Amino acid sequence: MTKSNANILTDIFGRKHNYLRISLTERCNLRCTYCMPADGIQLSPKSHIMTYEEIYTIAKEFVDNGVTKIRLTGGEPLVRKDAALIMEKLASLPIQLTLTTNGVIVDKFIDHFKKCGIKTLNVSLDSLDTSKNKEITRRSYFEKVYQNIILLVNEGFQVKVNCVLMKGFNDNEIIDFINLSKELPIHVRFIEFMPFDGNQWNMDKLVSLKEILSEVHSNFKENEIIKLKDAPNDTTKSYQITGYKGTFAIISSVTNPFCDGCNRIRLTANGQIKNCLFSSTESDLLTPLRAGKSIAPIIQKTIQAKLKIRNGMDTLDKFKQVDGHNNRSMIAIGG
Ligand code: SAM
Ligand code: SF4
Repeated sequence: MTKSNANILTDIFGRKHNYLRISLTERCNLRCTYCMPADGIQLSPKSHIMTYEEIYTIAKEFVDNGVTKIRLTGGEPLVRKDAALIMEKLASLPIQLTLTTNGVIVDKFIDHFKKCGIKTLNVSLDSLDTSKNKEITRRSYFEKVYQNIILLVNEGFQVKVNCVLMKGFNDNEIIDFINLSKELPIHVRFIEFMPFDGNQWNMDKLVSLKEILSEVHSNFKENEIIKLKDAPNDTTKSYQITGYKGTFAIISSVTNPFCDGCNRIRLTANGQIKNCLFSSTESDLLTPLRAGKSIAPIIQKTIQAKLKIRNGMDTLDKFKQVDGHNNRSMIAIGG
């Protein structure tokens, strides 16, 4: 297909969606409490999961229409058996390819990442305390993940460390995480805990942007805290402590949403697109694709239906009222 001029990825507010996040699988080798219910989720039948050819075909349609960046996510993208093949296929497209991973098995993919031109990776790590890490992930891989973060840094990758903060659990580690960036050139990102199906969310567990900044200001002098410039589509507010090699940032989807500059669209492992992380509806691309139909009109319609702020929950009150948000668990969306 040749490049389209139809601008099917521009919504009614003029937002251009040039960043596609593809979930490769609903499966994972961890069981994070904030991401999935204790008894797991109902997995889609294997026949409903996109094959690697289908992932490539859908991704190419997006790229032909203006997508310039693709992030692979999940579930844990690297547990998919053909993850390496998918990365290789997508790397042939004119895009920036990246991924979000829990880091457990990244050491097995170092050469492959390099081969596919992957330069940056987001790795999730929510506690620097072994037992808390076990509690949150319901698995014991802290050492492995920590060593793999160091390995990625040493191998020259740009590493962003994603940390979901929960009150009374890991909010006492904010400064420890920032101090990780003293010697390591990593970018730590504190993420406000968000509500998804089965994750027992409530506002009291959330550590807000304001609270995180207050903790930072009580531990560092004013002139040590440097506010960095954020890019227009950035979901983060970025900072650096003077003299530190790395940086840190806050992703405040709940208390301070960043929808104005949203350029993201999500494709789930079973071939549905979501125009917003908080959207309760999805559009099926896989069935029409398998029937040999054009998927471009469905993509266009889904983008046109995107609401201005957080799927219509434009105030914190509206956001708090929606229980579970009629949404999937995060593990089945692809964060
Ligand atoms: N398995 C990979 C990982 O953990 O990085 C990729 C998938 S995971 C769903 C993607 C990101 O979503 C992770 O950084 C995770 O911390 C974040 N996430 C999951 N549930 C969340 C929630 N309830 N609130 C905020 N972030 C969440
Ligand atoms: Fe798995 Fe990532 Fe969800 Fe944790 S956050 S359960 S590692 S998909």
